[in-house]
Amino acid sequence: CGIVAYVGERTAYPILIKGLKRLEYRGYDSAGIALINNETYLYKCKGKVKDLENIVKGKEISGSIGLGHTRWATHGEPNDINAHPHQSQNGKFIIVHNGIIENYSHLKKELINRGFSFKSDTDTEVLANLIENIYLEKKVPAELAVRLALTKVVGAYGLVIYCSDEPGQLIAARKGSPLVIGIGDNEYFMASDATPIIEYTDKVVFLNDEEVAVIDTEHLELKNLHNDAKTPQIHKIELSI
Ligand code: GLU
Repeated sequence: CGIVAYVGERTAYPILIKGLKRLEYRGYDSAGIALINNETYLYKCKGKVKDLENIVKGKEISGSIGLGHTRWATHGEPNDINAHPHQSQNGKFIIVHNGIIENYSHLKKELINRGFSFKSDTDTEVLANLIENIYLEKKVPAELAVRLALTKVVGAYGLVIYCSDEPGQLIAARKGSPLVIGIGDNEYFMASDATPIIEYTDKVVFLNDEEVAVIDTEHLELKNLHNDAKTPQIHKIELSI
C-alpha cells in the first residue's frame, strides 16, 4: 500500500503513476488517483496501476495537484468503490489514507446520526466525512478541521488531504504509517517512502507521528495536532534509482 501526492507547476499525472509503480513492491489490491485543475477528476479501480492507466486513457489528465494511492484493504473488500481516493459526502474533501482507523464504527454511527451516508465500506470514508462534518459545523479552516478530526481518531494513518475550498494546497499527516515530503523548486512531493521522490529532489522531510503539514507550491508549514509550530528538519537523501 502506498501514497504519492504532488503540488507544483508540472502535470501531476505522470509523477503519480510513476510513483505508484515504485511503491508496488509494498503490495496492494487497488489503485486510484485524484487530479485537480479547476475541476476534480477521480479515477480508481480494483487491480494494478496498469489497470488504472487503462481506465485513464483518453480522459482528462491535466492538473498540477494530485493524490495517488495503492490500497491494501483492511475494511471493505477490494473493489472499485472501496479504492481510494475517497471523497466526503458534500465533496469538500478528497483523501488518500494508509493505515487503520480502529474506532471507525463508533465514528460512523455518530456521523450517520448526523445525516451522513456512506458509499464505501472503508474506515477511510468515515475519516473523510468526520473531517467534513467538523469543517462545516465549526466553520474553521480545513487544516484545523483535519487536526480536530485526528484528535478523535484511534489508529494509524498516513494521509494526504485536499479541500476544494482551499484549492492550492494539500494537507499531509501521519501517525504510525510513514510519510515523506520531498522539497523541490516551487513544488512538493509526498510519498510513503522516498522512492517516488528521489528522481526529483534529494531534500526531504520525514513527518513525525501526530504532525500535520500544510503545503502549497511555495510553503511547507509543519505543526503538531495541538497547533505547536515545528521546524521542518530537512534531510539530504542519497538513494540510487
Ligand atoms: N484502511 C484503509 C482501507 O481499508 C486503508 C488501507 C491501506 O492502508 O491501504 O481502505
